Amino acid sequence: MSLIEDITSCRLCAERFAATATHHAPRPVVWFRPSARILIAGQAPGARVHESGRPFTDPSGDRLRAWLGLDEAVFYDRDRIAIVPMGFCFPGYDAKGSDIPPPALCRDTWHDRVMEELGELELILPVGLHAIRYHTGHKGALTEAVQNWRAHAPRLYPLPHPSWRNTAWLRKNPWFEAELLPELRARIRDLL
Ligand code: SF4
Repeated sequence: MSLIEDITSCRLCAERFAATATHHAPRPVVWFRPSARILIAGQAPGARVHESGRPFTDPSGDRLRAWLGLDEAVFYDRDRIAIVPMGFCFPGYDAKGSDIPPPALCRDTWHDRVMEELGELELILPVGLHAIRYHTGHKGALTEAVQNWRAHAPRLYPLPHPSWRNTAWLRKNPWFEAELLPELRARIRDLL
């Protein structure tokens, strides 16, 4: 079996997910091909993506596509853009209705192998702190990591999660939309 088939059939977290408030079964959302040269490294599917089986089919995806200047046809072209979250399955909600973080087991089981299969990437976009930590080794807070984007550009741009929960963060950090995003969009245009 290929790595993609192995991940798609993975059920390692079945008991963990059954114990969440949503009692759901694993449904890995696997969206990459080895030919991709751009990687979007997200956090984990939300409930809507768990239903659709396609990454970022939600308002976060709309905002992310606007940030990147990409329409759906290009964003979902797996031969050019790999979308690999730190947890391939929806982790569920806790008793308070908050998102549970992606299980570290997923990262430990799959991610080094996925990165090996993807090979040399021209652009890596870690979205959210879990992915930023994996792809940069950053140990501190999100704002500090994103503010330091020039240290990684043009091969990597750390991004906050595009969730509505980060709308206040975007207001507090106007340099993100004014400085980082125009440079990132130009880089993507060059690569595509
Ligand atoms: S989250 Fe990852 S490790 Fe857990 S069942 Fe899904 S693919 Fe497997």
